[in-house]
This record gives sequence, structure tokens and C-alpha cells, in this order.
Amino acid sequence: MKIKRFSIVKVDLIPASLQKGKLYISRKYETSCHLCACGCGHKVVTPFSKGYWTLTIRWFRLATFYPSIGNWAFPCESHYWIRNNRVVWAGPMSEAAIGQNSERHAVQLRRLYGQPPVEEIRTFTEKPKQS
Ligand SMILES: [Zn+2]
Repeated sequence: MKIKRFSIVKVDLIPASLQKGKLYISRKYETSCHLCACGCGHKVVTPFSKGYWTLTIRWFRLATFYPSIGNWAFPCESHYWIRNNRVVWAGPMSEAAIGQNSERHAVQLRRLYGQPPVEEIRTFTEKPKQS
């Protein structure tokens, strides 16, 4: 089932198993995690360190990410925004546009960190644990 709205869970360490509809945020490690909003169960990692997503939290509990979250590495290829905890579905993107985006991002990271990123941010090959 599609997730319409997330609720924030503030943590130091991201737990090994995540619950649907929860947005785990670790300020300590400048990263956050959630299970894909389409309901497929894949773990989505959205770091908010420099060069990645911008995370804004209003009223201590409403999270907004910029830019959108595109899970191109998953079979679902879902693409959405998280605005004030709500999932706003975005349209599909062409492969060319995705390629351009990731190239632009790689350039941006090189500028910030002076070297190519060791790990691509969208290599989510990890399968969810079966329970
Ligand atoms: Zn999905």
C-alpha cells in the first residue's frame, strides 16, 4: 500500500529494520532512511550532508526534502517529494534526464569534496528482510 504521510522518528543510529511510514532521521550522521513510499519495502537512504538532500523540519515534526526522491535503482522506480511529511507523487523521468541529473550531482560532489564520490547515493541493492 502506498504511504501518504510519514512520521518522524529521531534517532542516533538508523535501526536495522524499519517500519513503514516512519522517517528515521539521524542528525548525528546527517542521514535519514525510510521504506519506499510505494510500499515495495525497499530501504531509501537520503543523506542530508552537504551535496545531498536539503532537509527542513518545521514545528519539530514536519519534514520536507529537496529535491525529490527518485528510486530509479528499484524495480518500482517511484519518484516522489516529501513535503511536510506528506508524499507528493511526481511523474516518471526519462533515462536521459536521470543520467543528466546524476552527472550533475557527481560534478557537484567533486566540487564539494574534491574527489569522485566513493559510493553512489542511489545504489540501493539491499533487499528488505523477510519477516
Ligand atoms: Zn518502491
